Amino acid sequence: MITHNLGYPRIGDNRELKKAVEGYWSERISYEQLIEISSAIKQKNWLMQKELGIDLIPSNDFSLYDHVLDLAFALSAIPDRYSQLLRNSDKLKLDLYFAMARGCQDGVADITAMEMTKWFDTNYHYIVPEFYKNQKFWLSNFKFIDEFQEAKKLGIITKPVILGPVSFLLLGKEKEEGFDRIDLLGNLLEAYFEMISLLVDNGVEWIQFDEPFLALDLTTEQKGAFKIAYSRIRKNFPTVKLLLSVYFGGLSDNVELVAGLPVDAIHLDLVRDPAQLEIMMNLVSDEKKLSLGLVDGRNIWKNNYENSLKLISRTIEKIGLERVMLAPSCSLIHVPCDLELETNEEVLSAEIKQWLAFAKQKVEEVVVLKQLSIYKGDISSIQLFKENQEAIQSRKISSLIHNDLVKERIDFIEQFEEMKRLPFSLRKKVQQKRLELPAFPTTTIGSFPQTADVRSWRAKLKKRELSSEEYNQLIQNEIENAIRWQEEIGLDVLVHGEFERNDMVEYFGEMLDGFVFTSNGWVQSYGSRCVKPPIIFGDVQRPNPMTVNWITYAQSLTSKPVKGMLTGPVTILKWSFVRDDQPLSVTCNQIALAIRDEVLDLEKNHISVIQIDEPALREGLPLQKSDWKTYLDWAVNAFRLSYAGVKDQTQIHTHMCYSEFNDIIDSITALDADVITIECSRSQMELLDVFGEYKYPNDIGPGVYDIHSPRVPSDTEMVGLLKKAMAVIPKENIWVNPDCGLKTRKWEETKEAIKKMVNATKTIRESV
Ligand code: GLN
Ligand code: ZN
Repeated sequence: MITHNLGYPRIGDNRELKKAVEGYWSERISYEQLIEISSAIKQKNWLMQKELGIDLIPSNDFSLYDHVLDLAFALSAIPDRYSQLLRNSDKLKLDLYFAMARGCQDGVADITAMEMTKWFDTNYHYIVPEFYKNQKFWLSNFKFIDEFQEAKKLGIITKPVILGPVSFLLLGKEKEEGFDRIDLLGNLLEAYFEMISLLVDNGVEWIQFDEPFLALDLTTEQKGAFKIAYSRIRKNFPTVKLLLSVYFGGLSDNVELVAGLPVDAIHLDLVRDPAQLEIMMNLVSDEKKLSLGLVDGRNIWKNNYENSLKLISRTIEKIGLERVMLAPSCSLIHVPCDLELETNEEVLSAEIKQWLAFAKQKVEEVVVLKQLSIYKGDISSIQLFKENQEAIQSRKISSLIHNDLVKERIDFIEQFEEMKRLPFSLRKKVQQKRLELPAFPTTTIGSFPQTADVRSWRAKLKKRELSSEEYNQLIQNEIENAIRWQEEIGLDVLVHGEFERNDMVEYFGEMLDGFVFTSNGWVQSYGSRCVKPPIIFGDVQRPNPMTVNWITYAQSLTSKPVKGMLTGPVTILKWSFVRDDQPLSVTCNQIALAIRDEVLDLEKNHISVIQIDEPALREGLPLQKSDWKTYLDWAVNAFRLSYAGVKDQTQIHTHMCYSEFNDIIDSITALDADVITIECSRSQMELLDVFGEYKYPNDIGPGVYDIHSPRVPSDTEMVGLLKKAMAVIPKENIWVNPDCGLKTRKWEETKEAIKKMVNATKTIRESV
C-alpha cells in the first residue's frame, strides 16, 4: 500500500513566499534571494513529508505565482503581446512570467495581464491560458525537472505533479475565432512527450497528471480527447507509472471512461463522492491501483479514522492491499499549513483546536491511516486511534457547537415562508412614497477608501493602544465626513462607508456565535494574495446587533436615506471553512436567521434601505450542472430568509460583483430584492442583456464605473453606458452606481469619479 500527497501549500508556514515575491516586485530583494527563499520552502516541505513517512512526495507542486501559468510558461504558450519581453537570462524570464500574471507598465512597455479566474469551486484563482489557431507548443522552461532534481539531491525521488493535457486546454480560452481549443491536443501532446521523456531520463518513477475536468460534465468530443491523450502517452512511454488524479467531485458519467484509460493508478476524491468507489472497483481492471482520497483537502476538520478505515478495509478486501493507495482528497493548497502554529488559546481554544487538522496534520493522517489499516491486532488499543475517536466524539457532543435555541429556530423555518411581501410593483409605490427618490437614483455599493489611517486605528484597537471610545470617535468622524461629502455632491441613497470593517465576512464572523478565527490560517487566493477564512464550527447565532450603532449614527446626520449594509448568508458561508457535520443548507439558514435579526433591528431603528451583499452566490454553483437546482433552491431560500418579515416600505438591495447571469436569471429573480446592483462597466453593459430579455421585473443598478482600475472615467463615457442600459432596461428601473465597493481606491479618484457619475446622471435625467 502506497501513501502519497497530491500537493503541499507553497506559501510557506509564515507566508514567506508572499513576502519574498512582493519584495522582489518592489525591488527590495534580488532575484537570487527570491530563488533562495523559494528553495528553502520547497526543501522544508519535502523533508517534512519525508520525516512524516509519506511514500510518494510531490514535486512541481510549488509555484511562484500559479501552477497553470507555470505550465503555460513551460510549454511556451506565451501570448504575442509579451514578445518584446522575451529574453534569455533567468531573471528576465521570471520578469516575463510575472508580467503575464500581472501585466507590465514600466514606462516603456504597457501590456495587459492575462485573465485570472476561479479554480473550479475553490477560492484559488488561476491564470487563464490563451490559445490561438494552430498554436504550437514546445518546452522553454524546465521547472518541472529542476524541482525533481532539487529533491533528488536531498535523496527524495518525488512524484512530479503536472496538470494533464486535456484539463490544461479546457482551462484556457480561444483568443481568435474559427477553432476549438481541444483541436490543439495533437500539438500539445508533442510538448508533453518531451516533458515526460526528460522526466524518464532523469529517473522518475511516478508522474501525477491532474485532470479535475473528469469530475465535470463532458461532451463526447472532450471524452474522446482524454482517450486520445492517455493512449498516446502510454504508447510512447510504456513503463513510467502514471497516476491520473481527479478531485473536487465524483466521476459520475465519466467513470467508465476513466476506468478504461491506460494509466497505472486512478485517484478518486472520496470526500466529495464516497459512493464512486464501489462503482470504480467493479469497473477497473486488475493491474490498476486505486488511490483513495479520504483526507479532506478542502476543509480543516480532523479525519474520522473509523470511517476511513472502513472504506480502506473494504477496498483491500475487494482489490487487494497492493492495489490500494492512500492520499488526501486533493492538493493541500486549499488549507492552511500547520495547526501547531496556532498557539494563542485566546484566539483558538484547545477544545476547538483538537477537532482540526491543517496541511501538515493531514499528511500525518494519511500515514497513520496506512499504519492502522495494516495493523494486525486490535486497533482500538492504539493510542493514536483512541485520541482520534475521542476528538471526534467530543466534537459530536460539545456544548460549544450545539445550541438548542438555534436548532429550534431552524425547525420553524416554514413559518417564515408565510411572511410574504406585496408584489414588487406595489411595494415599489409604497417605498417611493417614503423615499421620494428622483428618476435614476444614484448610490454607491458600500465601502469608501480604507486609508492607511483607518487601518492603523483598527490595528491599534487590537493592540489596545486605542480605547474603544477613542476608536469609535475616529470612525464616527470618518462617517461624518463621508456623509457630508455624499450630500454635497448630491448622491441620493447614502452609505456610511464601512470604515469599521476589515473584511466583509470577517467583520460579521467576529460578532456571530459559532465562528472562530485563526492567527495564522492563511490560504493562497491568487499569486501573493492570501486569505484567512473564518471557521464555522458551531450553531450560528447573533448575540448582539452588529451594525445598528454605526448605521443609525450615519442616518442621524442626514435626512437622505442611509443604506444598512450587510453581508448575505451565502457569501458568509462560501468564504469560510464550514462544518461538515450537517448539510450546507442548514448552516446557511442559521446564518440567514442571524442576518435577519440584524435586518429587523435596522428596520426597527428606522433604516429605510438595507443592502444584503451576495457576491458569492454564483461561485457557490456545484461543478456538475445536475446539482445546480438543489443548490440554487437552498441558496435563494436562505437569502430570502435573511429579510423575511420586513415591511413593504423597507427597500431591500443586494449586490453581486462580476458574474454571468444567463443561466441563473430565474434564481436572481427569485431573490426578489427590490434593487440589485451588478458589475457591468467592463463588459460595456453586455451583462444586462439577459435582464432585458428575461424582462427582469425589479430595479437594477448596472455599474457605470470600473472600480478595479485607478482610472477615472469621463462623464460622457458614463452617459454612454447609461444610454446602453436604457436600450435594454425600462428607464424607471435603472439605478446609477459604481461596479463595486470603493475600499481599494484612493479618495482622490473616488471623489472625482463619483462626482462625474452624479453629473452623468443629471445629463441623463435632462435628456428623458
Ligand atoms: N458592500 C461591499 C463593499 O462595498 C461589497 C463588496 C463586494 O461586493 N465584494 O465593499
Ligand atoms: Zn462587488
